[in-house]
Amino acid sequence: MTKVHNFSAGPSILAESAFAKSVQDIQNFAGTGLSILEVSHRGKQFEAVMAETEGLVRELLGVSDDYDVLFLQGGASTQFFQIPLNFLNNSAAYTDTGTWANRAIKEAQGYGNVNVLASSKDSNYTFIPKNYEVPNDVDYFHCTSNNTIYGTQIQKFPASSVPLICDMSSDIFSRPVDVSKFSLIYAGAQKNMGPAGVTLVIIRKDMYGKKANRHIPTMMDYKIHADNGSMYNTPPVFPILVSKYNLEWVKEIGGLTAMEIRNTEKANTLYDAIDNSPYFRGTTSVEDRSKMNVTFVFEKEYEHLAKKFDAACKEAQLSGLKGHRSVGGYRASLYNALPLESVQQLVNVMKTFA
Ligand SMILES: *Cc1c(COP(=O)(O)O)cnc(C)c1O
Repeated sequence: MTKVHNFSAGPSILAESAFAKSVQDIQNFAGTGLSILEVSHRGKQFEAVMAETEGLVRELLGVSDDYDVLFLQGGASTQFFQIPLNFLNNSAAYTDTGTWANRAIKEAQGYGNVNVLASSKDSNYTFIPKNYEVPNDVDYFHCTSNNTIYGTQIQKFPASSVPLICDMSSDIFSRPVDVSKFSLIYAGAQKNMGPAGVTLVIIRKDMYGKKANRHIPTMMDYKIHADNGSMYNTPPVFPILVSKYNLEWVKEIGGLTAMEIRNTEKANTLYDAIDNSPYFRGTTSVEDRSKMNVTFVFEKEYEHLAKKFDAACKEAQLSGLKGHRSVGGYRASLYNALPLESVQQLVNVMKTFA
């Protein structure tokens, strides 16, 4: 098979070693003679997988014992309502920085007063607003670290005296973060952690005391999942297993500091090519550029060349570059497992095409 360069925005590229090890476990899991897909999640072999995956999350991100690490289902989209369901008593503050942030706001509005502190919607989300202050009388403040569709990323998190909650679906494990600043971090796995089907939630234990005064269904109660080691019900065993192997690879590379260096080199390589090309331009403000999702379009006068460029990309086995319909053009997602060679291949195609 020839090498396909996978720039998919999600589900996305994972480490090859994660696939190889997972295939092995589908055939014979941990020496049980059974497939991972047919054994009890309460057996000691899978309990070990859970413990190791949690251990990797804690080690890589530096998560202290003040936090629980949960593996839930329903995707980041379920967190959009699970968070306000649990913690929105009166009002919450949000920033509106893209499609996903906007969806989180819409869900929260069903539970209380939502104070949208800042929005870049009027400019089609080309930048991250910074001139706002988080009020100290709201239940929490919610932000989105990386705007997957528009290609912007928070470089410096705002100060917050209220619980800081962040959707890190598309840049978790791509760079070190100071977890101690956050009360809750969540991420659908399928961008940078593992395959679709598991949602990572890192929650500070003091949040359990801030529960909203309403009925919370058992499956929506973070504390229930924490008390049961994410096994209140059957967890998504296979996505957790693949995530474990993918995170093992992140650790082998040297952890998040090394990963950030790799990701910066990849992003710089591509942004330099865009900035130095008369044919293309980036779609976002330079200071807010995402290292995970690089969005770019043809300059107006060259738009008629798009079909030819698309054919050249296809020929070079570059996959998943089509921009989201709300931005158009191209989006190259440079998640952890994408090698620098794939970016270089894209840059070569851009140069040859020019
Ligand atoms: C993809 C994405 C989501 C939606 O995730 P699901 O797991 O599909 O619900 C939410 N937020 C961000 C930032 C995303 O990139």
